Amino acid sequence: MRDETKCLHAGYTPKNGEPRVMPIYQSTTYVFDSTKVVGDIFDEPTQAVIYSRFANPTVMAVEEKINALEGGVGAMCTTSGQAANLLAILNICKAGDSIVSTSQIYGGTINLFAVTLEKQGIECIFVDQDADEETISAAFKENTKAVFGEVIANPAMCVLDIEKFARVAHKHGVPLIVDSTFATPILCKPFEFGADIVTHSTTKYMDGHAVQGGGVIVDSGNFDWTNGKFPELVEPDESYHGISYTKNYGKAAYIVKARMQLMRDFGCYPAANSAFLLNLGLETLPLRMERYCENALKVAKYFAASDKIEAVMYPGLEGDKYYDLAQKYLKGCSGVISIIVKGGKEKAIRFMDGLKLASNEVHVADIRTCVLHPASETHRQLTDEQLVAAGINPGMMRFSCGLENVEDIIEDIEQSLAQL
Ligand SMILES: *Cc1c(COP(=O)(O)O)cnc(C)c1O
Repeated sequence: MRDETKCLHAGYTPKNGEPRVMPIYQSTTYVFDSTKVVGDIFDEPTQAVIYSRFANPTVMAVEEKINALEGGVGAMCTTSGQAANLLAILNICKAGDSIVSTSQIYGGTINLFAVTLEKQGIECIFVDQDADEETISAAFKENTKAVFGEVIANPAMCVLDIEKFARVAHKHGVPLIVDSTFATPILCKPFEFGADIVTHSTTKYMDGHAVQGGGVIVDSGNFDWTNGKFPELVEPDESYHGISYTKNYGKAAYIVKARMQLMRDFGCYPAANSAFLLNLGLETLPLRMERYCENALKVAKYFAASDKIEAVMYPGLEGDKYYDLAQKYLKGCSGVISIIVKGGKEKAIRFMDGLKLASNEVHVADIRTCVLHPASETHRQLTDEQLVAAGINPGMMRFSCGLENVEDIIEDIEQSLAQL
């Protein structure tokens, strides 16, 4: 099946007389015939659904759909994108380990890595994603367990050279984890370029309608966890009657461990209702992505032609620093554009406040056009140094094109720019 077909059919195939649409399994528990059956499931938990803290049929149908779109061996949904990135790391890192991450990533993830994981004893070493392989290699230590980057960085709109990072990661015997939130599986297939694990905040384009938050981790099944660096995936898990994930689950070792161990212990599993809504969003994802990209390219060109705009960061624009990488890795550059308004922070805020159609909201990749000023909103916790490292100019604003008629979006921009 192609993506459009998968979005409608993967993950759920009703049998004779069953509902056409995947129903909402609004039940926390499941009934079994005997104590022995329950005992057997505890021995082999992938065989049945036992409890909603880590599995639910409605959520699992969506997991299968996303897994099919990415081309992986398994997926696990979480309650947020933050939870997805947290569990993706914790599944292979413990206190005393380190990770290497690009610095041009989402502010929330920088916080998670630089502050919260640091407190748990996991060190993050940040590298410039445009650095050469030697410089990136220098960030690795004996205890490095993973490399992390964003396919399209939020909000810097840098495109990750996935093959370069996969090469460096694999040379050091560790997996490459990429957050593909802005690209979605429609615009990029990171596994085809060597990424090992993909995460998404499904809160953004995948849901698409700003109705529920969520995240997902997808496992390519391609990474060899038996290379000596990841004993927790190979050696018996004491908390699971001594099973070995690689021995029992082969290629799916990572994603099965994430569910059986981390989701069991942390319980950040989405509700069936949320998965039902996410599924509705996924059904139209290919159509919507096509239009977001089309609208954004027109808007980016409009911004680029305006003498009130100092810079436009949109990798779909010819001449953009990341144009070539976008051509190589992406089928489109999403609906998000970063711009710097001439006159810095104060003018950026005036421009934002002058918009009538585009709403000022703490969101991005929404069906409605929205704007945000990272330096004074989402990224206000970052120091000036971190802002620059994350690719954020204080005058930068993030313009997220929605699915309104693009002429209306441009007219709104026009009237607000005219007031500056
Ligand atoms: C929004 C976002 C996140 C965090 O996702 P939530 O669902 O808000 O927790 C992570 N990564 C990227 C790239 C994002 O845009």
